[in-house]
Amino acid sequence: MSQTPHSGQELHEENRGPSAEEKTPGDPGRVAIVTGAARGIGAATARRLAAGGMAVAVLDLDAGSCEATVQAITAAGGKAIAVGADVSKDDQVEAAVGTVAAELGPPTVLVNNAGVIRDNLLFKMSGDDWDTVLGVHLRGAFLMSRSAQKHMVDQRHGRIVNLSSSSALGNRGQANYSAAKAGMQGLTKTLAIELGPFGITANAVAPGFIATDMTAATAARLGMTFQDFQAAAASRVPVRRIGQADDVAHAISFLASEGAGYVSGQVIYVAGGPLC
Ligand code: NDP
Repeated sequence: MSQTPHSGQELHEENRGPSAEEKTPGDPGRVAIVTGAARGIGAATARRLAAGGMAVAVLDLDAGSCEATVQAITAAGGKAIAVGADVSKDDQVEAAVGTVAAELGPPTVLVNNAGVIRDNLLFKMSGDDWDTVLGVHLRGAFLMSRSAQKHMVDQRHGRIVNLSSSSALGNRGQANYSAAKAGMQGLTKTLAIELGPFGITANAVAPGFIATDMTAATAARLGMTFQDFQAAAASRVPVRRIGQADDVAHAISFLASEGAGYVSGQVIYVAGGPLC
């Protein structure tokens, strides 16, 4: 497997994207892996990428939990498989990426979306809660990217999209999560620099408040109903609503597309307004 960079002219051509004749709606033929895609933002992203013509590996801890997403995609005429793996475990990641390559073809789109929260104030946060959150988000994105890049380099095409968060800017009770999400931004920029010469882009989306099981769990921890929690959050957002999983999926879909080949190393906040 060669990892030799191409000449400048070739690189320019590779990154240019498809010609007008080659362009079709969506990106048919590409193989995408979306981690944490059993539900929430990952499921919405998997459905959207599949609707654009990609074959999608719906990856989550338990393959069985991916079935609803896979069925939604296939019922809509798309192609998807369920893959079970813990993204923080080297051997499981290698096996999962190998399975995707064997069953769907070389994965050239990777969305590092799998995530967990273990919120607590610093003085109450355990070492395990720190390690778990850093392990799933950061180590998981590192392992998945390292494994998938081999296929991307071979294909001289790749799109990596990492899930950061508005919490990267700091958030009470989330020392572990905010550190992980800020780390995702640094990882993204370094991937963009290292992998750019091979036709691979890396970007991050940083959602604000999105209505999913994750934010429902936060509401429960704070002793609020999810409805009240959402209403309070919406009142602070300039567009005066909370986000939906599809809001994030749209942004990811753009960054994963052929046409986004000159956007790399960027962080797009999907938060209904600017963040300070
Ligand atoms: P959800 O909790 O709804 O979904 C996360 C998914 O990741 C679950 O299916 C979960 O599986 C899976 N997962 C957890 N650990 C692992 C692992 N080790 N390996 C593989 N899969 C795993 O989260 P959201 O959809 O809300 O969030 C998706 C991403 O977006 C996360 O990275 C999150 O941090 C980020 N984000 C979310 C925001 C929000 O407001 N919701 C805001 C900013 C960022 P299981 O169910 O088995 O645990």
